[in-house]
Amino acid sequence: MNNHKTDLKNLTLPALEQFLQGQGKERFRATQIFKWIYQHDARSFEEMTNISKDLRTQLSETACISTLEPEAVEVGNDGTRKYLFNLADGHAVESVLIPIEGRNTICISSQVGCAMACEFCLTGTFKLTRNLTTAEIVNQIMAVRQDVRDTGEEIRNIVMMGMGEPLHNLDNVIPAIRIMIDGNGLQLSNRRVTVSTCGLVPEMERLGREVPNINMAISLNATTDELRDRIMPVNRRYPLKELMRACKAFPLPGRRKITFEYVMLGGVNDSLEDAKRLLRLISDIPNKVNLIPFNEHEGCEFRAPTQAAIDAFHKYLIDRHVTVITRDSRGSDISAACGQLKGRLEK
Ligand code: SAH
Repeated sequence: MNNHKTDLKNLTLPALEQFLQGQGKERFRATQIFKWIYQHDARSFEEMTNISKDLRTQLSETACISTLEPEAVEVGNDGTRKYLFNLADGHAVESVLIPIEGRNTICISSQVGCAMACEFCLTGTFKLTRNLTTAEIVNQIMAVRQDVRDTGEEIRNIVMMGMGEPLHNLDNVIPAIRIMIDGNGLQLSNRRVTVSTCGLVPEMERLGREVPNINMAISLNATTDELRDRIMPVNRRYPLKELMRACKAFPLPGRRKITFEYVMLGGVNDSLEDAKRLLRLISDIPNKVNLIPFNEHEGCEFRAPTQAAIDAFHKYLIDRHVTVITRDSRGSDISAACGQLKGRLEK
């Protein structure tokens, strides 16, 4: 990528308007260009045939349009597809397409590595290498969309649950979300975009202020500060009480609910006592629960819970009218299940 050129995929529509204005161009061209990029997947200015040749030539001198090409695509037995993307500087990230009854969901990454150091998470063991740019975030979606279009399908849901902590990279994540939900951009409904966090409280507040109406998922994973401090270091900064207060204050429209993700670690947090405490913690917040049986990975001492523990935990919550989904390990045969993504971070 040319360093002196502005990558237009880093710009929201208002930012693109400003960019054009700064170059002495007409602002309204921004909408046309935005549509070319996000709705027609234009990769060059030459393609933008409703824009004058002069402007196209000038733009190509100061701006560029980046893309990501999958370096490898692995297809799992259940149709899950894992994409490995090489970034311009040689790092790599992964995205996962999860086909669920025609409602394709893409799980995208927000950082190379992660600084949060959750004890059970593979990405966390690699530390943070760098933030992804806005362009690198939206390009994951566009590359996967391109790939599934060849089979006549569309993308319905975006979950920011891949590598990295999206709330640790809000300066790039917020513009990326704006591009996703822009009617001239990727045209996704805000109801279909979910940001998942380990619990960075001030950033939850900022996200709620700046992009209200998207979905929030909280990786809770423990019901006492004692255990959460141990397995998720972020809890030492923002303990459960503060986190739950931030959840309660998060601006949710209508009947929308906060998703509480709960990675079940065998013998660690999977007892009925935990289920009881979980219920107590979330009961005054509009909630649904995602139980995620721990996906084992090499070098990590935690173990998957037994099926009996999963069933009992699930039943305890269902019996008390909580909406619970126990995630199956989709894509586990291609290391694309939750917490298995690692890009190419190994030394
Ligand atoms: N940083 C964000 C998003 C990435 S992690 C967050 O913490 O929410 C996405 C989800 O995968 C989180 O709920 C996390 O707890 C879970 N996870 C991480 N490692 C896992 C593993 N080995 N097995 C199952 N789930 C895991």
